[in-house]
Amino acid sequence: MRDTRVVAEAPDRSLSLRGAVALFSGFGSPRVVLVLLLAAVGGRLAIGGWSWWDLLGPGVVLALQPFTEWTIHVFVLHFRPRTVGRVRVDPLVSRKHRAHHADPKDLPLVFIPLPALFGLVAGVAAICLGALPLERGLTTLVAALVVLATYEWTHFLIHSTYRPRHALYRYVWRAHRNHHFRNEHYWFGVTVHLADHVLGTFPERTAVPVSPTARTLGVDEAA
Ligand SMILES: [Zn+2]
Ligand SMILES: [Zn+2]
Repeated sequence: MRDTRVVAEAPDRSLSLRGAVALFSGFGSPRVVLVLLLAAVGGRLAIGGWSWWDLLGPGVVLALQPFTEWTIHVFVLHFRPRTVGRVRVDPLVSRKHRAHHADPKDLPLVFIPLPALFGLVAGVAAICLGALPLERGLTTLVAALVVLATYEWTHFLIHSTYRPRHALYRYVWRAHRNHHFRNEHYWFGVTVHLADHVLGTFPERTAVPVSPTARTLGVDEAA
């Protein structure tokens, strides 16, 4: 696994895109997603049987993606720990996301934790392959893995020292930085902000106060 000190040692030097790709490909989650993606693409190409129906699953995945991302961020990643009976409910991904808010520069914390990643992919694969014929299910799984890889890459790039050079990337970069450094109750999208616009969580930056809980998500970790 690549050493993140490469970035830490040169905080003033912004990363090139090539350097960002090299750094990204050293982390566990991108490697796992890439291997799974190649396996799914290989399997899909091997079985053939193409039809126009292959477009349907990816279309649904892409159409839902802004809302999937928003919903998981709001209800899972920002889940506040609670005690149900004697059991404390505080999922791994929620704890890791709070650690990510506490230290947004810590690159390993940017990625989906591996146990959660395996669980997520297994769940998505079970839905795709269980609900659809094998050909269409594999095509849909490929689309879901591409979306997952895009999410991991975009989130990583935003938290790296690579500086935006194009308007579209600057827009997502700024929005996610607002989520971390302005107010954690807004800008829940990472790769796309359609859901934020539709659901009213994409205000003008200066229209919302600087949140004192943007680094803690309002959870006292010592409690
Ligand atoms: Zn982040
Ligand atoms: Zn967050």
